[in-house]
Amino acid sequence: MCELLVGLPEVKVLGVEDVAGETLVVHVEQAGDRPWCHRCGGRSRVKDRAQVVLADLACFGRRARLVWHKFRLCCGDGDCEMGSWTWEDPRIAHSRQAMTDRAGRWATVQVGMLGRSVAEVARELGCDWHTVNDTVVSYGTALVDDPARIAVTTALGLDETLFVRRGEWHRQEFVTSIVDVSPGRTAQLLDVVEGRKAVPATAWINARPSAWREGIAWGCLDLSGPYRKVFDDALPNTAQVADPFHVVKVANGKLDECRRRVQNDTLGHRGRKTDPLFRARRLLTKAHERLDDKGNSKLAGLLAAGDPKGEVRTAWHAKEVVRSIYDISDAALAETFVCELATDLQDQDHPVEVQSLGRTLARWFEEITNWHKASVSNGPTESVNNLIKRIKRIGFGFRTFNHYRIRVLLYAGKPNWNLLPTITPR
Ligand SMILES: [Zn+2]
Repeated sequence: MCELLVGLPEVKVLGVEDVAGETLVVHVEQAGDRPWCHRCGGRSRVKDRAQVVLADLACFGRRARLVWHKFRLCCGDGDCEMGSWTWEDPRIAHSRQAMTDRAGRWATVQVGMLGRSVAEVARELGCDWHTVNDTVVSYGTALVDDPARIAVTTALGLDETLFVRRGEWHRQEFVTSIVDVSPGRTAQLLDVVEGRKAVPATAWINARPSAWREGIAWGCLDLSGPYRKVFDDALPNTAQVADPFHVVKVANGKLDECRRRVQNDTLGHRGRKTDPLFRARRLLTKAHERLDDKGNSKLAGLLAAGDPKGEVRTAWHAKEVVRSIYDISDAALAETFVCELATDLQDQDHPVEVQSLGRTLARWFEEITNWHKASVSNGPTESVNNLIKRIKRIGFGFRTFNHYRIRVLLYAGKPNWNLLPTITPR
């Protein structure tokens, strides 16, 4: 009867520690046929026993522990050279795991699929944070390493993501997210690699099967040299596409630079909260259509007061025109438009920041206009980034890259959860 309630195959319940209000502790040992000697095939005998305490699923609404009295076996034949060994049963728990197998798979779903925090799940099970984390990483690694997780990809995106701020100076460390942004399906995080230099991402792509690499028609990137190099080196036949989000971000960055310079030129100090340009900074970078009449007239007033030569206004206008690149649907029209825009912005009469923006558009002309041919949107990379941000908020501050990698891949990497019951934890 008790065995039935414990719900594990081939175990004998040795006893239950049942103190009201405390964790339920169930002692078991294996009840099946003892294995035979691997060496001579003879009958084994019990040498000694060791107790392994395992976190288990809650039982009748109470936290539970399983104490597994594990057998150490040795050969019954005194002349056999077989040393002693432990009688394992992965249906109870895998070796070196601190949780029962069923609790391990449950915790992996809670943390990996549902995005609950390790601390919360550990509290529910009444065990240590590390016990849950190690378990999720063990089962999760097996799940995300499934080669079938990475399917045919026609568009591949590279994006830098802040991983951690470390040390006294909050030094930022970045990772590169590798995302499947194939048109017509939701984006999938394929993997993350350390750093934002070209080498790790190049190595990752080169490690994929050649058929997979050859299927990639489009490579999406921010306006950065390293990722351009990744595609040049690893996927030379892939057309590169500049991510619209990053193109607009560059335009906003130039606008900001211009605002700060004009601020300093006119008032001789950095922005203070009463300065018109400082007060205009949020209105300036906001999308024009998102400004209501009040916002518009406020912006006009602040510019009239703080921007005597109209430089910030020009930079603001340039940003808005860059945004409008993405209102164009026709590829040929977009090429003409971007080409003319890049030339116009470089006009000597414009503020230096606007000229610099024009040079950037000229340098990335092909990548920017490829977007109109590829019809990959920037939505996917962003949606994956939002999922990553959610996991980072929950895990507040990952220290270990591998823990971060497994957690974000479980959540945003579309692992096949149907495999969970059959995988072997690593
Ligand atoms: Zn033997």
